[in-house]
Amino acid sequence: MRASQYLIATLKETPADAEIVSHQLMLRAGMIRRLAGGLYTWLPLGLRVLRKVERIVREEMDRSGAQEVLMPAIQPAELWQESGRWEEYGDELLRLKDRHERDFCYGPTHEEVITDIARNELKSYRDLPANFYQIQTKFRDERRPRFGVMRSREFLMKDAYSFHASPESLNETYQLMVETYSAIFRRLGLDFRAVEADSGAIGGSKSQEFHVLASSGEDAIAFSSDSDYAANTELAEALAPEGERPTATETMQEVATPDQNTIDQVAGFLNTTPDRVLKTLLVHAPKDEDSSHQPLVALVLRGDHTLNDLKAERRADVAEPLTMASDEEIRKALGVDAGSIGPVGLKVPMIVDHAAAHLADFVCGANRTGYHLTGVNWERDVALGETADLREVEEGDPSPDGHGVLGIQRGIEVGHVFKLGRKYSEAMNATVLDENGKSVPMDMGCYGIGVSRLVAAAIEQNHDDSGITWPTAIAPFEIAIVTLNGHKSEKVAQTAEKLYDQLRQTGYDVLLDDRKERPGVKFADLELIGIPHRVVISDRGLEAGTLEYKGRTDADKQDVATDDIIRFLA
Ligand code: ATP
Ligand code: MG
Ligand code: MG
Ligand code: MG
Repeated sequence: MRASQYLIATLKETPADAEIVSHQLMLRAGMIRRLAGGLYTWLPLGLRVLRKVERIVREEMDRSGAQEVLMPAIQPAELWQESGRWEEYGDELLRLKDRHERDFCYGPTHEEVITDIARNELKSYRDLPANFYQIQTKFRDERRPRFGVMRSREFLMKDAYSFHASPESLNETYQLMVETYSAIFRRLGLDFRAVEADSGAIGGSKSQEFHVLASSGEDAIAFSSDSDYAANTELAEALAPEGERPTATETMQEVATPDQNTIDQVAGFLNTTPDRVLKTLLVHAPKDEDSSHQPLVALVLRGDHTLNDLKAERRADVAEPLTMASDEEIRKALGVDAGSIGPVGLKVPMIVDHAAAHLADFVCGANRTGYHLTGVNWERDVALGETADLREVEEGDPSPDGHGVLGIQRGIEVGHVFKLGRKYSEAMNATVLDENGKSVPMDMGCYGIGVSRLVAAAIEQNHDDSGITWPTAIAPFEIAIVTLNGHKSEKVAQTAEKLYDQLRQTGYDVLLDDRKERPGVKFADLELIGIPHRVVISDRGLEAGTLEYKGRTDADKQDVATDDIIRFLA
């Protein structure tokens, strides 16, 4: 590309409404422009980066054996009614009507559509496992779109959906996706962590998120210094404004007032949505295996029931009251697969803490995470919190799985993998014939990556005072050739043209900055845009037989013999 014929739409000033550095730099570097709240145009320079991220995601998904498809962005309401999510999904779902007054939505995710494909196309266990993915535009009518493409309303997602004849097969593909995601984020040059997570509106039993570590991250993640324990404390965006947050103790006392125990009241008090309360899972488990005679209690807050209703409902679900629950019943109450959490004595506390941390986030904010709820006892017919002794867990506390101490860091959710189990296949009757010719619902997994969010996340981790410092794999251009006085000096122009051709033939993405701008302007733009390598061609250098080279993050420039430059850059 020649800069003289390319849209270099850099801005000197930092746009006032851009709060975080990636949003500021994406605007300043001329990568994106805002059309309306949460809607962005990708300018040529930004699109180059987006496409590179997309390519890496596609290559690794292909390598894993997943098959690429492309589903419509607009989906008919009927499918969502079948799954039950037409009612459940809430305001993030953009609902539309066509000219015949038929209901549609703009897809925020595609479980229903792919399940419809699977139930029609997959007939026998022999057709399984199958994993389908797409890279496609989603729309979510976010309550608070912000931070540019980090939390936009329209965004690019890679979503994949796998189908299986057994939970074991699902486990295998789920694990393969965890590895594939790790490979993707490594290739993107990102510092990331995989953490245990909430299944949210997607549903299902087990899920992990991938977080890019960054101080601007909307999520808080807690992890152990000595083990693999890592969990999202999530819900940061549902928090009360700073200063208005009740303390943990106060909250628990308030919530304990019996007639305040409806979901709406809890939600109101915690200044969050009933939907969020609904998703909160509180579990009480013994602190160690010795005390396993203590009751294990699972409590799922649902809909607008009172807690007493919930208790009755939960008890009806399992053979024995939960206070006497067996491992299997606990798993059932938690909605987790046998096998996926291992021995309950060891692993449940991990889930416990994760769930409790969710509540803590509701209550106190993301910087105070990880609470233990103890003493909640179904047998005594208590209201939530009545006997709860809430303890704040801070950085440096012992951790929940018995190993090491807790660290807490902020993260940006860039990927999420879920074991869905049979939630959609049962609701939508997606079955195959098993080995005995019996019709059985398929087990499902789903796997998302925020492709456009990744661009912003990469900038959060790769910038300095002058601008973006791209990892080479996703830089819009790898090398910039800058001519000094190129429009006057034929020798400079010719050398630049020759080098431009040679480098492009070698396979590099090269930007030839042939603009009639002052050197300082060109350098500032190239640093802002973040091109990893810069070669300057000047009359003075050519007389000495050299070109000037500077790596984007190098402190100093250096002279390189003109004949050596290709070898030098390799
Ligand atoms: P978040 O917690 O940030 O709202 P989510 O959990 O709702 O994300 P998922 O349903 O797990 O999102 O979707 C898969 C991926 O899509 C997320 O991991 C994230 O990277 C990306 N994503 C979700 N919402 C947005 C958005 N509004 N803008 C950009 N990317 C998004
Ligand atoms: Mg969301
Ligand atoms: Mg999330
Ligand atoms: Mg998620």
